[in-house]
Amino acid sequence: MMTGVLLRIRDSAREPVAATLHVEPLSAGARFGRGVVRLVVCWVLAVACVLVPLLHFVLVPGLFLLGPVLAWLATRATVEVKSERISCPRCEKETGIEPGITGWPVSLRCSLCSTTFSAAQGIASVT
Ligand SMILES: [Zn+2]
Repeated sequence: MMTGVLLRIRDSAREPVAATLHVEPLSAGARFGRGVVRLVVCWVLAVACVLVPLLHFVLVPGLFLLGPVLAWLATRATVEVKSERISCPRCEKETGIEPGITGWPVSLRCSLCSTTFSAAQGIASVT
């Protein structure tokens, strides 16, 4: 789904810049699956760490508790950004977007001028 967004530079009084971003909404099933994968990976690692001498006192409970936290964070993401490039609102040059970035409003960083900006407040959606 292509959606119109406003690119707003963090901590700046500049007017937001309009842009287009390709985002895919994550279904409830996909969000649940992402959470389950993270939970299972952490708990498998916790079980595997039982065999590590001394460190298992920290790793096993740490990974056991980390699993539900990472699963909860993974289920919070509602969209995944599919666009690979976007125009920076400050230097106005094309910059890359990390693959698999999630969250809305999405926080992006220009690799050329190191400006952090967010894309939010869709103008109009085109499916
Ligand atoms: Zn830039």
